[in-house]
Amino acid sequence: MASTEQPATATPRRKAGRHRGEGQWAMGHFTPLNGNEQFKKDDDSLNVRTRIETIYSKRGFDSIDPNDLRGRMRWWGLYTQRKPGIDGGKTAVLEPEELDDRYFMMRVRIDGGRLTTAQLRAIGEVSEQYARGTADITDRQNVQMHWVRIEDVPAIWEKLEAVGLSTTEACGDCPRVIIGSPVAGIAADEIIDGTPAVEEIHERYIGSPEFSNLPRKFKTAISGSPVQDVVHEINDIAFVGVEHPEHGPGFDLWVGGGLSTNPRLAERLGAWVPLDEVADVWAGVVGIFRDYGYRRLRTRARLKFLMADWGPVKFRQVLEDEYLKRPLLDGPAPAEPSSRWRDHIGVHPQQDGRFYVGFAPRVGRVDGSTLAKIAELAEEHGSGRVRTTVEQKMIILDVERDRVESLTAGLEALDFQVHPSPFRRGTMACTGIEFCKLAIVETKARGAALIDELERRLPDFDEPLTININGCPNACARIQTADIGLKGQLMLDADGNQVEGYQVHLGGALGLEAGFGRKVRGLKVTSAELPDYVERVLGRFQEEREDGER
Ligand code: SF4
Repeated sequence: MASTEQPATATPRRKAGRHRGEGQWAMGHFTPLNGNEQFKKDDDSLNVRTRIETIYSKRGFDSIDPNDLRGRMRWWGLYTQRKPGIDGGKTAVLEPEELDDRYFMMRVRIDGGRLTTAQLRAIGEVSEQYARGTADITDRQNVQMHWVRIEDVPAIWEKLEAVGLSTTEACGDCPRVIIGSPVAGIAADEIIDGTPAVEEIHERYIGSPEFSNLPRKFKTAISGSPVQDVVHEINDIAFVGVEHPEHGPGFDLWVGGGLSTNPRLAERLGAWVPLDEVADVWAGVVGIFRDYGYRRLRTRARLKFLMADWGPVKFRQVLEDEYLKRPLLDGPAPAEPSSRWRDHIGVHPQQDGRFYVGFAPRVGRVDGSTLAKIAELAEEHGSGRVRTTVEQKMIILDVERDRVESLTAGLEALDFQVHPSPFRRGTMACTGIEFCKLAIVETKARGAALIDELERRLPDFDEPLTININGCPNACARIQTADIGLKGQLMLDADGNQVEGYQVHLGGALGLEAGFGRKVRGLKVTSAELPDYVERVLGRFQEEREDGER
């Protein structure tokens, strides 16, 4: 049931004033307190684009200023990737430059997960021409490519921008991609379409110097779907569709969620925001983060730490008094999510009588030429609209009833299932040691192999299930929110050899009963034992579960 009560606060608040001197601009602390703050102050990170276009792409990798290479280039979606052949044991002991390859990962932001087939084809062509065919769908609706050379970056931008895509602020201490319901404006059961708000925020603020120097990254989610399909609980700010008893459809405002090594669920401010005020409220919250956010320590620089200290009541007060200059309306909490799966896989009705068809690549892995084939199918069977989801999956829109079967067959011929097993549907993996400099273990290939193995061993298992695999203690694949979360680390096997393995977290969830999985004390599994372990856990769950137990 919807209610207007304020949520219980998740952690005790610390005394106001105790954390003066953490680099908050609003308190006059403008002196940079660490190297990251220094390079951000020295030059707006967005300015690196000109240097990439006029100097680095012409003179090559060795001409790149170190502060641009490991800092500002992120504001344009570029990270150096991990040098091949360096094992996970070296991750923590080598200097960053020893791990750096001379190639880049490039992240293309896809706000709201909305793509046309022209855009999909452009990404496919860039992938084939400049990124050795790599293209992964991320769990924030982006696409990431690898093996990009600095010499090719201007040509890639030209190609992407010609179809309305960009890499602007895809990484860095700035507002990252705005995730949005992938079926916004389409699904028959929608509460409200958040697309105009996604577009307005993008237009007004992305790439603007107003917010290009934040304490750290800032993540946004907007969804008017009753499925609550944007993991709103773990974003810095989220707008969740609700029906106000007097004012109609609008959004409930959540602030201060995030994962990483200090996971924290977002809290409701108890405020109802109409669609046409979302962008202003968003800018107010980002303004608070910019001005009051902690900058001294990178590990405390996310908005969740400020929220932990302030609490939702003070946060709302500051937002209203100092940024919006008006009170917000009180509003109801969202109802429970309408489905345990939040990914839109399968065939679902649209508002206009047509259907959308969600399908599952394994752990988000596709490639350039396959993206072109997906575009072809979307044009043959729909109107050319495609979406990415926050579960590393994809959706083709606008399919007439009598074309669904043919599309399903076409997708399955590409090994994309419309009716996948719970394992293929619910398994995600981060980038891992293949390309990520922070990784300790392999993830993508391990996840794909695990799916195949579980499908073979447990063909009748049909419960919603999430298995999330991370290559290090960070949380790019959201391990704390999965039924089975696997955190990569090195460990000793039964013979005393150092091997890749995972710390196990069990019982995490978002939506109904949101909470973080428990780290099972001492429970680690080697990569080789992983299928046996997951099979045992699921077998025991099936045998011992009580009615309705998840
Ligand atoms: Fe890299 Fe770790 Fe993130 Fe995986 S979780 S992509 S290994 S930083």
